[in-house]
Amino acid sequence: GMLEEEDFRRMRDLVAKGAMETEIKLAADEIRGRLNPHPAGQIELNVPRLDGEVVAGIQHKYQETVLFFPSQGQTCHAYCSYCFRWAQFIGDTDLKFASREAGQLVRYVRDNPQVSSVLITGGDPMVMKTPVLRRYIEPLLTAKLPNLHSIRIGTKALAYWPYRFTEGEDADDFLRLIGEVKAAGKHFALMAHSSHSRELEPEVARRAVGRVLNAGAVIRCQAPLIRKVNDNANVWAQLWRRQVQLGMVPYYMFVERDTGARAYFEVPLVRAYKVFTEAYSQVAGLCRTV
Ligand code: SF4
Repeated sequence: GMLEEEDFRRMRDLVAKGAMETEIKLAADEIRGRLNPHPAGQIELNVPRLDGEVVAGIQHKYQETVLFFPSQGQTCHAYCSYCFRWAQFIGDTDLKFASREAGQLVRYVRDNPQVSSVLITGGDPMVMKTPVLRRYIEPLLTAKLPNLHSIRIGTKALAYWPYRFTEGEDADDFLRLIGEVKAAGKHFALMAHSSHSRELEPEVARRAVGRVLNAGAVIRCQAPLIRKVNDNANVWAQLWRRQVQLGMVPYYMFVERDTGARAYFEVPLVRAYKVFTEAYSQVAGLCRTV
């Protein structure tokens, strides 16, 4: 299993003896607490302030990029077992990082002229309906912030819920929103998570990619290197080839963070380097944007 042996036995024994739900939850919380829920110190580090007050749900750890965690986007359709943001999903508000405040985001970007990019992230912000997304994005446009050059959304929806971009009025409205960001003179990028080329095989996923690109966005692709899922150079080469064929831009290969079921999914750095270089050496130049 993905738990350490001792933790697994503890949970198994509790379930086997018919323990109360509260007792099981207590044990689960204790185990989770040891799984390093905020490996990058999200709760206490890189937390911005306005007028001396902490701004909830914003992280500013890169000079030019602000990460924004809208509260309605702190869930995900995928729930990958290797997720490094798992603390957002376990119903513990002390561990969760979220904001309801578009106004604070605008003020923060205005007050920090070095910020050129806002990355809306989660969870998966594409679980939000477009009118909710608009509540966060439109104020950034109407504020006419000269320093803001780009808006990005991190998502796995192209692979996991492509219908989000192909079916119904809400999908069409999202494509219009991309157009509005472009019309305001900003770059719009969808930061797409796909861990394996199979995720981009279905016809509907390809159609979703085409619609987002036609709306004027760039799709940049990212995924972690995960043991037993994609720890193989050929898998990555195939993934990058497929992305480029569809008009997407390979962008990041991540290594596992020190969090969650890390022991189960991690790949030693020396192997990660080998997988990366072997994959890179077999693909055409257009794929070498990672
Ligand atoms: S898609 Fe991303 S946020 Fe969602 S569960 Fe997977 S890794 Fe976590």
